[in-house]
Amino acid sequence: MTSLAVYETEVRRRLEHVVGQVEGALAEAGRAPGSARIVAVSKYVDASHAACLVRAGLTHLGENRLQVAQPKLDSQLPVTWHFIGPLQRNKLRRIVAQFDWIHSLDRHETARDIDRLCMELGREVRCLVQVNVSGEAEKSGLAPGEVQEFVEFCQTLPNLQVVGLMMIGSRGADAGQAREEMGRLRTLRDSVAQAVDAALPELSMGMSGDYLEAIAEGATIVRLGRVLVADEEVFDK
Ligand SMILES: *Cc1c(COP(=O)(O)O)cnc(C)c1O
Repeated sequence: MTSLAVYETEVRRRLEHVVGQVEGALAEAGRAPGSARIVAVSKYVDASHAACLVRAGLTHLGENRLQVAQPKLDSQLPVTWHFIGPLQRNKLRRIVAQFDWIHSLDRHETARDIDRLCMELGREVRCLVQVNVSGEAEKSGLAPGEVQEFVEFCQTLPNLQVVGLMMIGSRGADAGQAREEMGRLRTLRDSVAQAVDAALPELSMGMSGDYLEAIAEGATIVRLGRVLVADEEVFDK
């Protein structure tokens, strides 16, 4: 693996580029500067490299597996942590205790558990409902038609905060298909927010391959791994 100093410099360079791209896409979409936040997906790197991400200026980090995240959580980085992976019931207590956002809520049972854990642990965790927009069989998330009922259920849980929707785009989608799917998530958010009279301001969508399309479609959070944190150019394989 590359030396930490070289890595930090490279991340700084990439972040500057990505922020420029994001702000350009926001302006083009007529959106306010700074209205989309970048979550750097640190699952590709160890704790010492995650510290470089923070030194390079990143303030939100995302992880999809607790086990991979734990050494980084233990290093007490001054960041906001986002959990973006499958929620296993036996790990939920540790996730609620350590993460500030959960992007992958898609089961009633999990919602009930998070509600209870937030109360027990005195935590406020912002949750996003994961939606399987593309309908791919292997993908997590609720079907679009299930989302309204689920959000209504969540509204009955006093310690659970649902602040928006999240999706993962289809594997191998081109830019047009990516935009079309993300537009569907935004439309769904708009209709559910109206139907249940809730503010669902957040849309977590867009990864390294499609984050500019995501901004154009209204993403408030883009989750960036390869373009920012790691790829072949940075790491000797
Ligand atoms: C890994 C991961 C990302 C980042 O993907 P890149 O293509 O590396 O940007 C985003 N979201 C989720 C849920 C992930 O697991």
